[in-house]
Amino acid sequence: MRKKIVAGNWKMNNAKVESKTLVKDIKESVKGLELKNTRVVIAPTFVFLQRTAKKVKKSAIEVAAQNMHQAESGAFTGEISAGMLKSIGVNLVILGHSERREYFGETDELLVQKVDTALKHELEIIFCFGEVLEDRKSNNHFNIVENQIKKALFHLNSEDWKHIVLAYEPVWAIGTGETATPEQAQEMHAFVRELVAERYLSDVAEEVSILYGGSVKPANAQEIFSKEDVDGGLIGGAALKAEDFVQIIKAI
Ligand code: PEP
Repeated sequence: MRKKIVAGNWKMNNAKVESKTLVKDIKESVKGLELKNTRVVIAPTFVFLQRTAKKVKKSAIEVAAQNMHQAESGAFTGEISAGMLKSIGVNLVILGHSERREYFGETDELLVQKVDTALKHELEIIFCFGEVLEDRKSNNHFNIVENQIKKALFHLNSEDWKHIVLAYEPVWAIGTGETATPEQAQEMHAFVRELVAERYLSDVAEEVSILYGGSVKPANAQEIFSKEDVDGGLIGGAALKAEDFVQIIKAI
């Protein structure tokens, strides 16, 4: 049975004290939950990753990095490698986030390299994709998503897919307060699952968790998560408040 996942992407938020408090509060609340088939992931900034990984070690919470460099090592000032992440106990990395694509020029070609490097280091990948508003308006959203997934992930083999989590994040819904309707999310998730089923065996498609991201909040989480092909959420803004994040976990 594929896993449900609620992952919080903290982006460039929270300095030391806020970070510490948020981890502590989430950890306390998650302790009392019966998580069954659900994974809880938090993605703090690089500087607090090691400390957070240590703090949550004996809990049900996992940590993810928000990014990594594609090279093994070398003269890449300011960058972080997959090997460094593994060495501090991080086993997950978010790749392809629309903010990385838009503000840092990450292309599908670059993402192929990042994906390969992450897998080589046995990092599990939360791979983000999604269309911008113009694509949705011109009914081009399925094409865009199909291309993003095919270009970055379809060179992988079935075994590699055990380490892939997909996250559909329509760019127009990220941080805007606007959410895709549960029907829009379901429609895209089913489309993506079908794409994977056509390329690989249907078990691969059945096993891959597909998260929805884009202004998920306690008020709308349950309705979105109730859809058959929505296996959880990648949460931005609402992951910065322990109470909201925990409500979203409960919604699953
Ligand atoms: C995100 O950036 O991954 C995200 C989903 O953000 P928000 O929940 O704030 O829309």
